[in-house]
Amino acid sequence: MPTPAVSDPAIGPVVLDATRRAERARHAGPVAGQLSAAGATMAALCWVDNAGIARAKTIPLGRLERAAAWGVGMSPVFDVFLVNDGITTSEHIGGPGGDLRLVPDLERATVLAGQPGWAWAPVDRYTQEGRVYAGCQRSFARRMTGQAREQGLELRMAVEVEWAAGTEDAGRFRPACTGPAYGMTRVVELSDYGREVAGALERQGLTVDQFHPEYAAGQLEVSVGAAGPVAAADNSLLVRETIRAVSARHGFRASFAPAVEAGTVGNGGHVHLSVWRDGRNLLAGGTGPYGLTAEGEAFAAGILAELPALCAVGAPSVASYLRLVPSHWAGVFQCWGRENREAAIRLVTGSAGEQETSANIEIKCFDLAANPYLVAGSLIAAGLAGIRDGGRLPAETGGDPAGLAEAELAGSGARRLPQSLPEATACLERSTVLRAAMGDPLFGAFLAVRRGEAELFAGASADEVAAQTRWRW
Ligand code: GLU
Ligand code: MG
Repeated sequence: MPTPAVSDPAIGPVVLDATRRAERARHAGPVAGQLSAAGATMAALCWVDNAGIARAKTIPLGRLERAAAWGVGMSPVFDVFLVNDGITTSEHIGGPGGDLRLVPDLERATVLAGQPGWAWAPVDRYTQEGRVYAGCQRSFARRMTGQAREQGLELRMAVEVEWAAGTEDAGRFRPACTGPAYGMTRVVELSDYGREVAGALERQGLTVDQFHPEYAAGQLEVSVGAAGPVAAADNSLLVRETIRAVSARHGFRASFAPAVEAGTVGNGGHVHLSVWRDGRNLLAGGTGPYGLTAEGEAFAAGILAELPALCAVGAPSVASYLRLVPSHWAGVFQCWGRENREAAIRLVTGSAGEQETSANIEIKCFDLAANPYLVAGSLIAAGLAGIRDGGRLPAETGGDPAGLAEAELAGSGARRLPQSLPEATACLERSTVLRAAMGDPLFGAFLAVRRGEAELFAGASADEVAAQTRWRW
């Protein structure tokens, strides 16, 4: 008896049928032509796994047409890879069987400014039958975006990227610059590098809002313009790969890890988000706190309520909890406040005169070990649940909750978010909102990776965790 073919878990009907494949192949020809005219000969097809690591298959540009129609093969086992490339398993996903098709998104195909001769494209993952793979994080973000759109809601998002530029020597991080926090000295020290990072991002079609020196040793930050949820997650990935490439050309490395070194300020991956209806920002011009509309407030309240579980998605590694300490601007309390950098949700109203376009909420407790597609999809799921339930925000928290005496803190309503990965994972396990949104195969694999990583580092010191994850994302 031959072994029956393994069918990978899928969602919905066959979408990549013969007609669609033919259309995609036709479209790929001119795209390959444009990439090649811009000097590319190879294309990296990229996706992000449940450990937050960008994995890739690469092809010569001449193969793009075939890849656009039929995809490139890759095992589903990567969905249960851990941060150290160890492998766990889960109920629906894991083991050596099955094969997925990585199908490049031609609309996002980009010539990489920091890697001459290379193009890049994010992929959606399909089963061999041409159905959407249930574990595909990018498809999850798109599905949640679609659910919001069905209710007439549009989302705008952007992920701030913080990183530490440097090298490693005898297991310790050595910063590429020595100037003070936010100091012009760092801009001078890294003059060519900073300009090249920003220039490369702009040549790749991204809008650079800011580049600035940050607080920790060698730490820098770039923020780019807001986009739809899937595009914003793509941008977050592209920004990091670009910084990584430009860093290599300058002889150092970029650490996007939550904790470059234990006991210091870490790298955040703050998410800015606004929600719109009929071209109107629901976080401004209303009658709620600071002009929030009822729907805008409910969306924010949904995220606030789900934050302990969302931490497992947005701060998914053991190392994340080395960063999440009070009074480090990482927003470790479940509360909100206008321009409060110690609240997990900072309401950014913008200046008078620009609030209609600028108002957004910033989720501060997340980092860059997170899969940006899972972050985008999960935030939407939580926000939509808030709207469904008519959620209201509790009283605002002003100042640093860590400064409050115990009784005052209890009375303020601000609660400490999970303080370890197992604690956050337990919250996620109980989240009916996120389980239903992700679906069992993705949710199960994601949880398995969290458990696997908690086990991997059980008993490791903070220094060991930081050293072993410093360069992984
Ligand atoms: N590096 C801080 C963090 O861990 C954030 C600093 C800031 O407010 O930009 O999130
Ligand atoms: Mg920052």
